[in-house]
Amino acid sequence: METTVETARTGSLTRRGFLTGAVAVSAASALGFAGCAPGATSATSAESSPADVRTYTGSGAGRMGDIMVKVGIADNVIASVEVIKQHETPMIANSALSRIPQLVVRNQSLDIDAVTGATITSFGLKEAIGNALSQAGLSEKDLAKTGKDDGIKVEEPVEADIAVVGGGLTGLVAAARALQNGKRVALFEETAHLGGSSCVSDGWITGADTIMERAEGIEDSADQFYAFLTQGSEDPAIVPYPEITRTYAETSGPLMDWLDTYVNVDFGERKGGYGLYTPPDQPRIYGVNNGGGSMDMALIELIQSGIREGNASVVLEARATNILKDDGAVSGLEITYADGTVKEFPFKAVIMGTGGYSHNQDMMPYANCGTCSPSTASGHGWELAENAGACMLPPSIYAPYAGGIPNAGFEMRYQANLKFPGAIWVGLEGTRMANEDVPLLAKGAWGKASDNVGYVVFSDAQRVDGLRPIVLTSYLEGELTPWQSAELLDSLVDEGKVAWKADSAVELARAAGIDEAAFAQTIETYNGYCDAGNDADFGRTGLQKLEGALYALKTVPYQLQCTGGIRVNADANVLDASEQPIPGLYAGGEAIGMRQSSAGGQGGCGLGNAATWGYIAADSASAYVG
Ligand SMILES: Cc1cc2nc3c(=O)[nH]c(=O)nc-3n(C[C@H](O)[C@H](O)[C@H](O)COP(=O)(O)OP(=O)(O)OC[C@H]3O[C@@H](n4cnc5c(N)ncnc54)[C@H](O)[C@@H]3O)c2cc1C
Repeated sequence: METTVETARTGSLTRRGFLTGAVAVSAASALGFAGCAPGATSATSAESSPADVRTYTGSGAGRMGDIMVKVGIADNVIASVEVIKQHETPMIANSALSRIPQLVVRNQSLDIDAVTGATITSFGLKEAIGNALSQAGLSEKDLAKTGKDDGIKVEEPVEADIAVVGGGLTGLVAAARALQNGKRVALFEETAHLGGSSCVSDGWITGADTIMERAEGIEDSADQFYAFLTQGSEDPAIVPYPEITRTYAETSGPLMDWLDTYVNVDFGERKGGYGLYTPPDQPRIYGVNNGGGSMDMALIELIQSGIREGNASVVLEARATNILKDDGAVSGLEITYADGTVKEFPFKAVIMGTGGYSHNQDMMPYANCGTCSPSTASGHGWELAENAGACMLPPSIYAPYAGGIPNAGFEMRYQANLKFPGAIWVGLEGTRMANEDVPLLAKGAWGKASDNVGYVVFSDAQRVDGLRPIVLTSYLEGELTPWQSAELLDSLVDEGKVAWKADSAVELARAAGIDEAAFAQTIETYNGYCDAGNDADFGRTGLQKLEGALYALKTVPYQLQCTGGIRVNADANVLDASEQPIPGLYAGGEAIGMRQSSAGGQGGCGLGNAATWGYIAADSASAYVG
């Protein structure tokens, strides 16, 4: 994929183009949200192009693979930097892809701060430019540094009654809805981009009793959805606040209709239901065409109209560090900009769409838990809410996703394929963990496993061409081909840190750190079940004998949604330690935790919670400020 910034124009920005990255590099800057100081459309062009400029190509490691740049060099001067190839996630990386090349040219230096929220892309770009310099026989110290412009703007918001903290789906919905309610809104986002987790999400979203359902002749209701969300448990640990769950079930339909008819979110063929995540009672889950990022874009377009009319502002690289109060009620926000500038602004109401903590390793509720959330899931809303006196629900037991491969530490790009036909799941003790025919059981099984470690075990008999032993954790990256997946497995086996291959069960267990005797017994017993056609332990029916060389992939849970968070009432009004509403303070989405509103077990409830509670919070805040 060749990408240059010159190709991007707002008018030609299709959703598909936005996601594939073909015109994506300056999508955010075209919309005015990139947060980069220079206004030039050709962000990577040189300010001057002397005739003796020679170009060199360099590459560096981005988040999604190599980034390649073409650097024009005349004597010891960097005349131009052009990004010629990259696979980064557009909404996250846009700001770095435009800002870093510009600042390198302007400052004649690689000593440039990484763009907040796009650190890996920033470092990849600097590595690529440095690489091109060395091709020219130069190093950083050969450049005549001309300044230390960090490209950060300290922008003031419009005067507004309502402030929204966080530019993920919750914040975007809250801002767009408050604008629709006729309110002026200031949105603050701590990174250089909007979209939070939703811009990398698959885009499955749930809502009951919608126009889309009715058009398909489906009779659904909030009551049915509530019954589904709370099914099988009167356990207050699972559904701690039934009235909040009910509000979610009741508002999710009107919210979906609003997204569908007012925001004009592209729901593709508008058909509900999707494989693993389809609720068994009704297909009330819908896939946003091209993933959650295209829903963000539709909302951003509405907010952009508000900006043009002078009713809204979006301030990037601006972290809310304190909620100001007067006589117990919200009176404003303290904002700390990325360059360290601190300012205070008055607001009557604040909506917290600050998201979860899935990318904060210190806040993980599990041992050995990784993440596939972007760095925007920072947990920074916790501190903010706690300081404002909010009642906080602890991160409680809720198994994150299972099967993450910890080959690169905390951030997990790869997952063992938990649907790999014939594979079994084994814990450190060497025994099987659950019925492997039911991937949904994996969450609970990994949650209960010692050290939360589970091994996905298979043999040569299962390594059939065309199957993938390893898959990606993130939808936006597409998928590994079976060939790439098999090759990745082999390279992980060669490294011997998270994958092993051996001719006998005992050898495999020894290499992988599994109880050797128990594991050997498990394999023997399991193969016996296959011969008999009866899994006496778990009742599995997809039985395949483990024969030939054996493989084990070590996996742990990985998080992409949180449970604990800010306690709210049914109006999304934040409650204090005595469960009393804090006047003017509202919260929604992952900031309030999944369990509080949707029991957390249903696919599509992450985006559903974010959008629904952003909507509720906006309506409540609008009514409050009058
Ligand atoms: C790979 C992946 C796939 C997913 N797929 C799905 C799916 O298909 N369906 C589904 O329902 N859910 C899915 N989810 C979950 C879903 O995307 C999230 O639950 C949801 O988007 C959370 O939205 P949010 O706005 O509440 O929080 P976030 O998206 O985390 O946004 C919070 C924003 O607030 C900012 N912020 C935090 N603190 C501050 C502060 N103090 N000042 C200023 N800004 C601050 C952050 O930088 C961030 O941008 C997926 C998640 C991931 C990671």
